[in-house]
Amino acid sequence: MSTLAGAGIAAPLPLAARSGQTASTRPDWFDRPMRWAQLTLVENDPGRYDPQFWLDYFTRIHADAACLSAGGVVAYYPTAIPLHHRSAWMGDGDPFGQLFDGCRRRNMVVIARTDPHAAHQDVCDAHPDWIAVDANGERRRHWASPELWVTCALGPYNFEFMREVHREIASRYAVDGIFGNRWSGSGMCYCEHCQRNFRAATGLDLPRTTDPRDRARRAHLAWQEQRLFEVWRLWDREIRAINPRARFIANAGGGALSPLDMKTVGEIADILFADRQARRGLMPIWINGKTAKEYRAVLGPKPVGGIFSVGVEEPYRWKDSVQAEPEIRLWVAEGTANGMRPWFTKFSGDLHDRRWLAAVERIYAWHHRAEPYLRNERPLARVGLVYSQQTAALYGGERARERVEDHTLGFYQALIEARVPFEMVHDRLLDDERLHALKLLILPNIACLSDDQCDRLRAFVRDGGGLVATFETSLYDESGTRRRDFGLADLFGVRATGGVEGPMHNSYLRLERDAGGRSHPLLAGLDEAPRIINGVWRVPVEATTPLASSPLTLIPSYPDLPMEMVYPRGERRDLPQVVLREIGRGRVAYFPWDIDRTFWDVLAADHGRLLANAVEWATNEDRPVTVVGPGVLDVTIWRQQRSMTVHLVNLTNPMMMKGPVREILPLGAQRVRVRIPAREAVAHVHLLVAGGAPHADVSPERLDVTIPAIEDHEVVAIDFR
Ligand SMILES: [Zn+2]
Repeated sequence: MSTLAGAGIAAPLPLAARSGQTASTRPDWFDRPMRWAQLTLVENDPGRYDPQFWLDYFTRIHADAACLSAGGVVAYYPTAIPLHHRSAWMGDGDPFGQLFDGCRRRNMVVIARTDPHAAHQDVCDAHPDWIAVDANGERRRHWASPELWVTCALGPYNFEFMREVHREIASRYAVDGIFGNRWSGSGMCYCEHCQRNFRAATGLDLPRTTDPRDRARRAHLAWQEQRLFEVWRLWDREIRAINPRARFIANAGGGALSPLDMKTVGEIADILFADRQARRGLMPIWINGKTAKEYRAVLGPKPVGGIFSVGVEEPYRWKDSVQAEPEIRLWVAEGTANGMRPWFTKFSGDLHDRRWLAAVERIYAWHHRAEPYLRNERPLARVGLVYSQQTAALYGGERARERVEDHTLGFYQALIEARVPFEMVHDRLLDDERLHALKLLILPNIACLSDDQCDRLRAFVRDGGGLVATFETSLYDESGTRRRDFGLADLFGVRATGGVEGPMHNSYLRLERDAGGRSHPLLAGLDEAPRIINGVWRVPVEATTPLASSPLTLIPSYPDLPMEMVYPRGERRDLPQVVLREIGRGRVAYFPWDIDRTFWDVLAADHGRLLANAVEWATNEDRPVTVVGPGVLDVTIWRQQRSMTVHLVNLTNPMMMKGPVREILPLGAQRVRVRIPAREAVAHVHLLVAGGAPHADVSPERLDVTIPAIEDHEVVAIDFR
């Protein structure tokens, strides 16, 4: 053991000095910006707002990239394209060009924002066929601005008119890219182009239902996606033809509920921005970190920006509002800790409420100081939580939120509580390259899996990997058709014997011990419990291989009223409610019930403990980082070129599950143990938020450090020799 005293953070070089090139000559600018600023102008801003104020603010907060309003529903430059509506307040000016020049003088990357989802009356008069049509055959007025019309995203408005707009912007201004907001339509469209093109492509009429079992509906999902990727590629091609280093960047992407295939999105995009601006309703603060993980699952090391608004994001859409600083701080910290670069967005150049300005300045100033340690090379997590768009679309359908996403959210919460660093994994990217860094894959009711996907999971286990799967995982194929048995029946060691049972009331699980009274590690921490509550839905299964006794067996539902009738009517110790198998060096844990969804629903601590224990047992190796202490922390671990970092985001707050956070409540001492990668030697350890060098005990394999307190976010930075 040796003791280290670390150095403080070296001041980062100015960006221009480091890159040696300006934004406009660098061939691939994508990785350069770390802090984005977005000013979305409103039509009456020109002449009323102060552009110099904004440019000064960009400098003050060390923003190195900007997204500026250019065209679409309103043009903020002197466009020559007929029907491209110029701001009625801009006169002969060029508000976009003015800001563009100012940002370029500051050596910032600049992308132009367009929004094609709405059009003015003259567009509708000249080209009524460009307007979206509802199921009754009526052209759609804009729901929030009834003087405008909603455009069809799949017809000539996007393919012809917006193509010209994008060409004009790219040829007049040397922008690095064009960011398309609300470019993918506003729901189902029944216009003449959609009718004709869908029939030509599929031979079918447009669907009148959103049920994924309907043939036309399934065909339409695929056709619409193909049209959207077509227009994305068209705009990108046209922009690149004018400026090869510029890109069209679609506002697109997300998790299982996202409509566009994320594997394809990850292939097309060189850079992407996640538009999850703030919390709404009941939503845990870690959702921003989850978003970062979902995007990175398909983009890998390509940069992802995390768009955050400074306002309240509830359905009532107070677009000029301002949130309290603690809520903004934690939201951005979650994104940063999970590998996303911050991007603030503000609507209207004329400020109605200035309270957010200093908050964002403080967040960005820290980010700028810590920048060398935020340029991550790769995550060091060993656990992957799989998400599946095909399961959401074809098995979940209109109920995807409860049938699919709630399983993921429950498992996510359990991993956060257990302080397990983890990544998210897209189910269409189960390739060796992506999986080789992982030791465990979690399948939270990933119901739809193809034979090929099952084969890949089998190979992962054969090569020594672990699996934790729940409920109907692999019981359906990639088209949403139920199989006779699980696709992964051989790994699970059981077969399905019937349809899903539930909702179960007042059902329990018996905790089984062996003859000597010893329990399986799955039951660690439940020593005093003879039984715990069951979930709500279960798949009946029976063993196909001789199983060692299952640690959990079924106590079937019994009456919960009248109270005189509330007594158990027997146990089914022959019905395993978890199957634990060792297959070569790999380990598989399968729960034939909705443990993860029930955990999200009920948040019973026993279920959280079972999930954490299953992950620990099936991973079967030491964690890359262990953090011991009170509270709820999101723990992430990263490698940079010559360093590694452990991020600790303090989620301990009465407003953790529903914002906004009122105040940051500091967390007491945390003991952090980090596994040091082979062939690396530790030179310095420092804390990027509290500052200074904590006492650290270092051996060749690991480092132990105690962090006295954490406000909202701490980063342990470990420099290598
Ligand atoms: Zn249409």
